[in-house]
Amino acid sequence: MTAPKRLFIRTYGCQMNVYDSDRMADVLRPLGYALADRPDDADLVVVNTCHIREHASEKVYSELGRLRDVKLERRAAGRDLTIAVAGCVAQAEGEEIVKRQPAVDIVVGPQAYHRLPELLAEAARKQAVLRAGKRLPGAGVLDTDFPADSKFDHLPGPQGVRAGSAFLSIQEGCDKFCTFCVVPYTRGSEYSRPAAAVLAEARQLVAAGAIEITLLGQNVNAYHGEARDGSTWSLARLIRELAEVEGVARIRYTTSHPRDMDDELIAAHGAVPQLMPYLHLPVQSGSDRILEAMNRRHGRDLFLSIVERLRNVRPDLALSSDFIVGFPGESDADFDDTMRLIDQVGLAAAFSFKYSRRPGTPGSAMPDQVPEAVKTARLAALQALIAEQSRAFNASKAGQTVPVLFAEPGRRPGQIIGKTPWLQSVHADGPPRLIGRIVDVRLTAAHPNSLAGEVALVDDRAEAA
Ligand code: SF4
Repeated sequence: MTAPKRLFIRTYGCQMNVYDSDRMADVLRPLGYALADRPDDADLVVVNTCHIREHASEKVYSELGRLRDVKLERRAAGRDLTIAVAGCVAQAEGEEIVKRQPAVDIVVGPQAYHRLPELLAEAARKQAVLRAGKRLPGAGVLDTDFPADSKFDHLPGPQGVRAGSAFLSIQEGCDKFCTFCVVPYTRGSEYSRPAAAVLAEARQLVAAGAIEITLLGQNVNAYHGEARDGSTWSLARLIRELAEVEGVARIRYTTSHPRDMDDELIAAHGAVPQLMPYLHLPVQSGSDRILEAMNRRHGRDLFLSIVERLRNVRPDLALSSDFIVGFPGESDADFDDTMRLIDQVGLAAAFSFKYSRRPGTPGSAMPDQVPEAVKTARLAALQALIAEQSRAFNASKAGQTVPVLFAEPGRRPGQIIGKTPWLQSVHADGPPRLIGRIVDVRLTAAHPNSLAGEVALVDDRAEAA
């Protein structure tokens, strides 16, 4: 019997990359690849990159340098290591990656993961030619095309679900072209999967143990998938249909754009009980002037009116958002507008960053770049305000009994960790059999980033599901 081949995937970035990494593992499983815990144990290492990170490419190249050293040690011992680079940096840098780091065997863009088996075979052929001492014009194998047919038509269905919760990618790409963002260049234009394919995958996920499904897309609420009858389904329609799938107890979606928060979707928050009362809705800035410079295509008033309408239909809705401070031209008054907006809305959480130039984006060439020290001070002030709001939000739940979906064991023996409907982490004592199930928990104490709780009652409906 031959030993199974080992695969290690290092995933950077958003949940879409986590989903893609799982799908790559699914594609490679039939070739005999089992997951390894460390790159040093692997025969194939995939680095699934994210371009949003600051100095993203440089960090990828330094990781590839480390992998090259592992590869050289392996070769000295008569074995090999195949290195693949995937994700947005692969898409953006393409051939440059192989030029700068010749140890890389495969560069694969996000639209071509279903072709990994062919790319691996091609890489193995090239390696054999090189080992035979023959010359090749280039050793790496590249696929960064945006093919006309969708990768989703070729990827296998999901093979397993971690602890009751699953991601389901329904939309990719973006046509919005915010002036700070590389996504429209690395992920291409908006594409929505057909509704039937999404529902079929949801049923597979439920059969594999999912009770919570998070719908993913770079612009998920721009979803416009074709239905079997030729009509187009919005995200709201998809959510309503997904709620009818037996066994789906929780639905979430991310990441949304305020422009695509239409009336139907807002109404779904009040009408679909499985749709969790937590929404991540990036606003980036509270200043109309900066929102325009960012090409966000909405002002602060539209954002505030969306929040108001959402809370009218779902009063317990918690919100999180994204903020960029120090965008070119941001004055003290613009920043004050952002702080006032946060005050007005009240957030459960937020991701916040200092603006940093992304090569090729309009923002990187704008005049009036904000000095680093100013960005640092503004970010600290904004994060202090968000931390205060998060603490207050967590404290408001203390004493309540809420349903928690347990997802993993905690650090302490006997401890398990789960999520409330508002995506707060809860630590409680309980047996591992509760992982993957929704259980009533009495929240006993609130901390800045989590809550402590006591398991109160096992939800038998969730157990049956
Ligand atoms: S909406 Fe803007 S920030 Fe979001 S992916 Fe598209 S371009 Fe990037």
